Amino acid sequence: MSDANSAALYVVATPIGNLEDLSPRAARMLGEVTVIAAEDTRHTGRLLRHLGLSVPLLSLHEHNEAARVEQLDARLVAGESIALVSDAGTPLISDPGFVLVRELRARGRCIVPVPGACALVAALSAAGLPTDRFTFQGFLPAKGAGRRARLEALAAREETLVFYESPHRIRDTLADLATVLGSRSLVLARELTKAFETFLEGSAAELLARMEADPDQARGEFVVMVAGAPPRVEEEAGVVEGEALLAALLAEGVGVKQAASVAARVLGGPRKVWYARAQALKDTPC
Ligand code: SAM
Repeated sequence: MSDANSAALYVVATPIGNLEDLSPRAARMLGEVTVIAAEDTRHTGRLLRHLGLSVPLLSLHEHNEAARVEQLDARLVAGESIALVSDAGTPLISDPGFVLVRELRARGRCIVPVPGACALVAALSAAGLPTDRFTFQGFLPAKGAGRRARLEALAAREETLVFYESPHRIRDTLADLATVLGSRSLVLARELTKAFETFLEGSAAELLARMEADPDQARGEFVVMVAGAPPRVEEEAGVVEGEALLAALLAEGVGVKQAASVAARVLGGPRKVWYARAQALKDTPC
């Protein structure tokens, strides 16, 4: 474990709502570094005041990130330690920092994560959807056509889908989810760690109806989680293949029993199941 006296870039997670979620280590790091590169210096200034800290701040956002690389690298080379923070949660996760981290890492600089809150992880941890595999897609495209195209490209994915969404677009996104994914189950995590934290479950159309009935449900920040597509029955491929094999054998005059034995040997599965299929094929040859 490093301390902030060593020249390094510390990527520090900050709370997504509840200030108690700032870890003691993160608070210590923020107090020990030479400078804090912050997405919004006013926002981070408030956090520092809350912590009773006074550390120089430097803005680092999507419009100046590339330009900041040389400056921050020079400070690291001079032996300074730098914290990178965003407005909320983990930097780089739908937030600035990727260009800086990539460039500094390419130059062999020391980059140290100081983990903590992250909305997608908090949401998944309490949603009750499968978490063994998931895909995080950040924000969907802002325009309807692009959003629907992205959803269509993801529709067959079997893992849980996770998106970030703002209150301005949550209704449009739910409408597009209903169009593209139909009655698939969703969980909406709203205002995580804050006073009005809510988890809503249902199809996209049901959740949209809840928002129409109670507009407060459309306020705040959202993580949208969508159940993956039902798994493609692996058997299906085998069944299609098996039926083709049985049909070919029967057409060659091979008996039902022998055709079933061949299918079971080649494709696996119980011989009596293949026997029943072969018999059915023989009875209805077309
Ligand atoms: N870096 C952040 C993280 O680690 O989660 C995410 C930053 S991204 C610009 C902001 C989006 O994250 C919001 O629009 C929302 O989708 C999600 N988000 C952030 N805080 C949230 C909260 N308290 N509850 C629900 N979603 C949140």
